[in-house]
Amino acid sequence: MLLEVEGLSVNYGHIEAIRGVSFGVEEGTIATLIGANGAGKTTTLKTLSGLRKVREGKVVFDGTDITNLSPEKRVKLGISQSPEGRGCFPGMTVRENLDMGAYVRKDRRSKAYAEDLDRVFTLFPRLKEREKQVAGSMSGGEQQMLAMGRALMARPRLVLLDEPSMGLAPKLIQQIFAIITEINQQGTTVLLVEQNAAQALKRAHTAHVLETGEIVRSGTGTELAGDPAVKAAYLGGD
Ligand code: ATP
Repeated sequence: MLLEVEGLSVNYGHIEAIRGVSFGVEEGTIATLIGANGAGKTTTLKTLSGLRKVREGKVVFDGTDITNLSPEKRVKLGISQSPEGRGCFPGMTVRENLDMGAYVRKDRRSKAYAEDLDRVFTLFPRLKEREKQVAGSMSGGEQQMLAMGRALMARPRLVLLDEPSMGLAPKLIQQIFAIITEINQQGTTVLLVEQNAAQALKRAHTAHVLETGEIVRSGTGTELAGDPAVKAAYLGGD
């Protein structure tokens, strides 16, 4: 397992946001957490990237206990997060945002940096077209792409994607999910948090359902997509 999450509990004051959450992500796969609003999906991702403190439990990345590591150290180890919504630096250009994603690497003039930039521009041609535009003036979908591109600039082994399809038009949703599969096929392990359960289950190798802070079901994407309870609650009953 590249990532092992064991009995994770996180509180906001007295509110238990997640309770005893355990799952693993195998290297080279796409794993997804699905669940309704407030189920604890974002909290789980924030905890994995080091932005929230753990009350109980353990996070192991590639054999190293990272439970109490700073976000910067986690990025250096190879975990980077694409935040929910418009998580870009609005006053900076597209290119400057992408450079921020590569900030942990001190090789901005190197071949590796040029290759990563090229990879992001190939995945998201729109970002290449808008290289000099300030992020704040781009559409929601474009900013979502920029947030994903920025996360990839850290050359992560594991990328954490928080609701990449949120607020996007149906055509763009298809496109974003196809890009997620492509990113994975290029060798990056993906942990995807989504409310768009149908698309997420279709793309994911393994999947978990979060309900009020707890994992209530786990399986392959295909298994959960065929599970009557999952269908009724998350797939519009068909
Ligand atoms: P959504 O899909 O709506 O983003 P989610 O599954 O990502 O939801 P979280 O944002 O992780 O859910 O929230 C889990 C629980 O923790 C919710 O009950 C939420 O109200 C609570 N919570 C989240 N952030 C805070 C905060 N900063 N302070 C207090 N409670 C919070």
